[in-house]
Amino acid sequence: MTQSPDYSERPWMDPEAEPFIKVQSVSKHFGDFTAVDSVDLEIYKGELFCLLGGSGCGKSTLLRMLAGFETPSSGTILIDGQNMNDVPPYERPVNMMFQSYALFPHMTVEKNVAYGLKRDRVPGDEIEQRVSDMLAMVELTQFARRKPHQLSGGQQQRVALARSLVKQPKVLLLDEPLGALDKRLRDQTQYELMNIQEQLGVTFVVVTHDQEEAMTLSTRIAIMDAGRFMQIGTPTEIYEFPTSRVVANFIGNANMFEGRIIENGDDHVIVESKHPDCEFYIDHGMSIPEGTKVWVALRPEKVRISKDSPDNADSRTNMIKGMVHDIGYLGGSSTYRVQVDGDHLVEITSPNMLRPKEAVPPIDWDQEVYLSWDASSSVVLTK
Ligand code: ATP
Repeated sequence: MTQSPDYSERPWMDPEAEPFIKVQSVSKHFGDFTAVDSVDLEIYKGELFCLLGGSGCGKSTLLRMLAGFETPSSGTILIDGQNMNDVPPYERPVNMMFQSYALFPHMTVEKNVAYGLKRDRVPGDEIEQRVSDMLAMVELTQFARRKPHQLSGGQQQRVALARSLVKQPKVLLLDEPLGALDKRLRDQTQYELMNIQEQLGVTFVVVTHDQEEAMTLSTRIAIMDAGRFMQIGTPTEIYEFPTSRVVANFIGNANMFEGRIIENGDDHVIVESKHPDCEFYIDHGMSIPEGTKVWVALRPEKVRISKDSPDNADSRTNMIKGMVHDIGYLGGSSTYRVQVDGDHLVEITSPNMLRPKEAVPPIDWDQEVYLSWDASSSVVLTK
């Protein structure tokens, strides 16, 4: 008997799974300006889905339409199978946590968390239990009697989270949830957020402009630009297999080489680069016709740098010679920028695994070096 695959961690791969949130051809116009341009999106139960993009790309507008604070100019939003177009915010199975947290300054932590339940006339003993469970979950039990100004930024963020989750929404919408925290606290809080989301199984939709945050948190990411989605995928898919130069450059750094496909076999592709001394051999077939103009993207950490020529030194395949232009020492790794063929700078990130006194003579500025990479390391892009 063949076992059916386990899709529990990747419901979007399951042909039988029904999306929990469906956004269908949704647009939002403000006067003659289009903030969200006919987007389609499916989010599954239990996902931690990030909308990622630069300032003004439309991500908050889309989130606000899910919450019901904005009405789509056209298109449909379905949550749990129900059309939301005429459902007011307070009747939607969603809750929104705002960037500013909006805690009541005169109320204690527990009163802040209990507020929504009281307003919904939940019985007193149930409120007490739910608030106490929620404070335990966000590890704030000992701060229950404090007021917001007596808490750190991270603790305030957790109160806001507890207040949003205590109402047991099916979907929690978070607009830049870690925006007010400094870098160290943000890194720590990211993991807390993931743990809480996993424990409760609530679907989170997070808006952020911080690519590191999106990469760490998400089950999947939608990259937005000018009101449209550029790519939707898991963090690994987006990093390893970007489908456009915009995405490759937006997520991490990428070295781009312009070229043309000169050979397209069943199991390989050869791209002749504009740099006369280099061609790319890629170890899988592609449905791109020979002669097509393409760009080859190479991540800095996939390029090897050496003073001596690698084994295939006679070849110009997956290798290029250059001159070290500058070096940045980052502790755990170093970044080299190597000038190849005139003014093209190639960036290489290399881990510093040796202690300084054990190190072989280091690569130096203005030194001639060889850059090489594996046939599986480069990504061919047509746009
Ligand atoms: P940020 O990260 O800066 O908040 P964003 O991607 O969340 O950016 P949105 O707030 O969704 O961007 O705004 C998208 C575009 O729509 C922006 O150009 C913004 O100026 C415009 N916009 C948003 N709300 C309105 C409004 N009520 N009236 C007119 N234009 C608006």
